[in-house]
Amino acid sequence: MSEPLLSVQNLKTYFKTPRGVAKAVDGVSFAIERGKTLAIVGESGCGKSITSLSLLQLVPEPAGFIAGGKILFEGKDLLDLTWEQMRSVRGKDIAMIFQEPMTSLNPTFTIGNQITEAMQTHGKNAGEARTRAVDLLRRVGLPNAESTLRQYPHELSGGMRQRVMIAIALANRPKLLIADEPTTALDVTVQAQILALIREIQEEMGMSVLLITHDLGIVAEVADDVCVMYAGQMVESAPTTELFHDPKHPYTKGLFASLPARNRRGQDLATLEGIVPDPTQWPVACRFAERCAFRWDSCEKFVPKLRPPLADRPVRCHLYDPEIPGRPNLAAAKEAHIIGDVSTDLARDTNAADR
Ligand code: SF4
Repeated sequence: MSEPLLSVQNLKTYFKTPRGVAKAVDGVSFAIERGKTLAIVGESGCGKSITSLSLLQLVPEPAGFIAGGKILFEGKDLLDLTWEQMRSVRGKDIAMIFQEPMTSLNPTFTIGNQITEAMQTHGKNAGEARTRAVDLLRRVGLPNAESTLRQYPHELSGGMRQRVMIAIALANRPKLLIADEPTTALDVTVQAQILALIREIQEEMGMSVLLITHDLGIVAEVADDVCVMYAGQMVESAPTTELFHDPKHPYTKGLFASLPARNRRGQDLATLEGIVPDPTQWPVACRFAERCAFRWDSCEKFVPKLRPPLADRPVRCHLYDPEIPGRPNLAAAKEAHIIGDVSTDLARDTNAADR
């Protein structure tokens, strides 16, 4: 298998706070293949956005710092680069679209200034940069590109500003685009247009995309693979179709159970009770235990490891670990309010472990 474009290994990003050290990202690993889209999903406070900021070393300092791990981009560890070297990676090899374009665009500069600056920083002359800026604005669906170049951010609608952000991000043909909740602030129609646009440009440029979102509907539409994050850790990862067909971790099951679905029309939506714990005080064993309907005493004694229950589907949960004592009565577990049936997996897993 070829080397992934990006391989993140045991990444740890911490924050010093008055209450202690918040371990926002606490040993996260994942990889993105060239031309593919990986989605990181989870509730707010799970560490998704801090993971994406860490890749570009944009964690707010001095409170935030990368405490360990590797970020291998085309085989080179970005954490070994100097500040200047990292500046040349940002916006050129790796670009980012942020959640709210108004906070990322400079209100005092025209759109033209902001797009061409991104290109001139990385070696294009003013004329080339302007020509490409016009082309990019048309490409992202802003047909009056010449006049848009002269406008200021406040003169554009939310959807137009997000298109401008995409144009800036794509200006230097990045190999990896990080899109952090790129459509959250937009209405559904514009959201669909922006997603289609990212996908179209991705195919055309062979770019990889890291999508950060809490929206499983968007994941289903655009992602090849999914990592589910909870309390600073990856708890499950899988190809998108497999995850949607058969989520394994109780947290993932809970996220799916709270989605509207055609076959549950007329029924109340399940809710995932409770909140993500405080990152300065993660629970010592399973971090999801307090909210988990499958929990038993071992869950609060032993730390679950990310292990493959079946081939290449890593899950961080004792339900899939035959070495953990006292796994629960499965019939009772099925009665729990979280939808799902782990019995088949457990049976297969136990058989595999017995062989
Ligand atoms: S380890 Fe236990 S508490 Fe944690 S997710 Fe699995 S079943 Fe639930």
